[in-house]
Amino acid sequence: MTALSRIILSRPSITELEVSLAEDAARNGWGEHCYDYILRFEKAFAAHVGVRHAIATSSCTGALHMGLAALEIGEGDEVILADTNWVATLAPVLHLGATPVLVDILEDTWCIDPQAVRAAITPRTRAIVAVHLYGNLCDMDALLAIGREHGIPVIEDAAEAIGSSHRGRTAGSMGLFGGFSFHGSKTMTTGEGGMFVTDDSDLYEKVLTLSNHGRSRRQTRQFWPDELGFKYKMSNLQAALGYAQLQRVGELIARKRAILETYRQALASEPALRMNPELPGTVIGAWMPTVVLPDSHRLTATSLLRSFKENNIDARPFFYPLSMLPWMQGHPCGRNALRIAERAVNLPSYHDMTEGDIARVAGVVREALHAV
Ligand SMILES: *Cc1c(COP(=O)(O)O)cnc(C)c1O
Repeated sequence: MTALSRIILSRPSITELEVSLAEDAARNGWGEHCYDYILRFEKAFAAHVGVRHAIATSSCTGALHMGLAALEIGEGDEVILADTNWVATLAPVLHLGATPVLVDILEDTWCIDPQAVRAAITPRTRAIVAVHLYGNLCDMDALLAIGREHGIPVIEDAAEAIGSSHRGRTAGSMGLFGGFSFHGSKTMTTGEGGMFVTDDSDLYEKVLTLSNHGRSRRQTRQFWPDELGFKYKMSNLQAALGYAQLQRVGELIARKRAILETYRQALASEPALRMNPELPGTVIGAWMPTVVLPDSHRLTATSLLRSFKENNIDARPFFYPLSMLPWMQGHPCGRNALRIAERAVNLPSYHDMTEGDIARVAGVVREALHAV
């Protein structure tokens, strides 16, 4: 018997275009050209998202950290975010000394519950963070309305949401600012990297200064930090890779959507199984196809992950509620956040995977469902 070939979870799609621009940056992108690809990438990315300003960063975490710092969020301030989240959204809040307020997610989109947000608002609330989980969309209409009512900015963590939009408005462009990630696992990549985007010109200037160790671009004295800033910059080499990926972003997103659709068809025979929802008026970028097992079923995420492992397939668990972390003790755990984490699994979805690979993954899901 031959061993089953391994199906990995994710891997970027790198073509001659990425290689040739990265090579050009390595050969020529120095001296007076050391910012060329960065500036090109920022400009093209802002146009893609539909915002006025973009700042390339070393990570999405860094983009969120600087944005929150520019809003002068700190000790005594509360920031509302979903319990279901990657830790990257939480870390900047804690690093700034602010208090995270974790609220539950919605059953259908797995994104922050606007009702729970409303209930969590206090006089100390300084920001609401909308994370478009796995490329699904937060209910931005409801969140923005709550924000307007209380004078609280809504911030978008669009790290997983390139290609997602709500009535023609791109994820990341609807809040006061947005953050994107180009980590190697994301739909488009620079290896590590991110982008801060905003329409607000004052906020843009503030973050630009913060991103350059607190040195304003208008300053007259060299090597003079006007304030304590950060060093979360992207290199020109990474920007060359990102600029090339951006030329292909339509193709990269279309492939993600096609993979999700193939999974849907392959699992259509299991109506109790739910996958990434695409609600009316929304388009999702489908970063990570995810199955949620039926509540009543004996099969759990843990046992499904075991079946994948036995079949040489890399799948991954849904994000654990942040409130489960030992250092977040005392924060209440969201009911949906916990329930869905116990029942959901992310499936492989890399650009070059074959229809046969997808069929094999779906086959393991179906078999596991019927085996218990
Ligand atoms: C990947 C990710 C981040 C972090 O991105 P980095 O570029 O690794 O900092 C933040 N939030 C979410 C929801 C993510 O998936």
